[in-house]
Amino acid sequence: MSRDRIIHVALPSGHVYDIRIGSGALSALSSTARDLKECKRALVISDENVGPAYGKLVKKRLEEAGFEVYDLLVPPGENSKSVELANELWEAVARYGFTRDDFIVACGGGVVGDLAGFVASTYMRGIDFIQVPTTLLAMVDSSIGGKTGVNLQAGKNLVGTFHQPIFVCSDIRCLKTLLDEDWANGFAEIAKSSFVAPRRSFFEWLRDNADGLVSHDTELLEEIVYMTAEFKASVVSADSTESAGVRECLNYGHTLAHAIENAAGYGTIAHGRAVAEGMRFAARLSVEVLGCDVSVVKATDVLLDRLGLPELPWVAPAERLFNLMKGDKKCRGGQIRFVLLEDIAKWKLVSVPDDVIMEHLGAWCAAKERLIEQNGGKMWGQA
Ligand code: NAD
Repeated sequence: MSRDRIIHVALPSGHVYDIRIGSGALSALSSTARDLKECKRALVISDENVGPAYGKLVKKRLEEAGFEVYDLLVPPGENSKSVELANELWEAVARYGFTRDDFIVACGGGVVGDLAGFVASTYMRGIDFIQVPTTLLAMVDSSIGGKTGVNLQAGKNLVGTFHQPIFVCSDIRCLKTLLDEDWANGFAEIAKSSFVAPRRSFFEWLRDNADGLVSHDTELLEEIVYMTAEFKASVVSADSTESAGVRECLNYGHTLAHAIENAAGYGTIAHGRAVAEGMRFAARLSVEVLGCDVSVVKATDVLLDRLGLPELPWVAPAERLFNLMKGDKKCRGGQIRFVLLEDIAKWKLVSVPDDVIMEHLGAWCAAKERLIEQNGGKMWGQA
């Protein structure tokens, strides 16, 4: 019998949808889609890695429910979040004769979810879409909250919309084929949630179950996907258009992470590993700026190590990282802002003075030089 669990999301706009999480979630897709939609047509968008396995299954489930189902594959990877590909998908749905009653299903990781969601939100000024996330990151983060978008040459996610799904179907069985870096990306966002979620018990549960999670224990994965998705849903329900300041907590660790990803060259350091670095840095900054107890630094290091996110032997000049943070779109009035911790489960958005940031970046770089030396002089990402 299925042990799937449901999170009911109710947004201030009146939009409501369910997130179904479990090892039988995909089996329930036929009946749920039919309950939600009376239309004829559906389009499943996947990428070339996901389509042959899970995209096909999603198509079959929807056909069983009596829909006329089309499917399209995009190349895997961040480059698929482009206006050019969105245009190809708009043209395709128009060719298939889709009307505002029909719907799109995004089956894949965050790339497919953001792209397919963007296409759904703009075609005929918005048609319904269902998220079938297949990466850990997509299950706990990107499939929830309604942010869609594509990248420009000038930067990531610069064009996008808020468009909420009508259903999110997270089948834990999809995770069994994930590669190591994609586990790391998911675990980093889970760790982030555990530091900023309002209940300390979230962090304690994660710390106590980290070993089982990195061994991919199914029951523990179901539990942590549920806990993290519930947290994200509560945050976005309180701030569905990112205007109330509540969503800021989701950027914990991301200020330095974005600079690291950029300085290393996109794709060299996985986003999750950069976020883990950013959280180690933010914990240390929290001690100085907010008087956070130094035990939080230790707790951060232990948790990230246990989740398979060790400190990286990688460094860039402090000035370069500083300038990249200054140029970030989240920087306000020339002041770099960090989400910092007063304690685990107690966060605050703070504008940190430049000299304090530089002092900490200096210490961070010195520690990295030592780590690289221990690594035989080799930096992360070097062959
Ligand atoms: P991704 O979508 O690129 O997927 C990572 C890789 O895993 C791809 O190669 C994909 O083909 C493969 N894959 C997917 N599912 C698989 C499975 N079950 N088994 C084996 N391989 C599988 O990356 P991601 O980490 O899922 O998402 C990153 C994207 O999400 C970024 O573009 C980021 O901007 C976006 N994002 C969006 C939000 C949001 O709120 N909308 C939040 C966080 C991140």
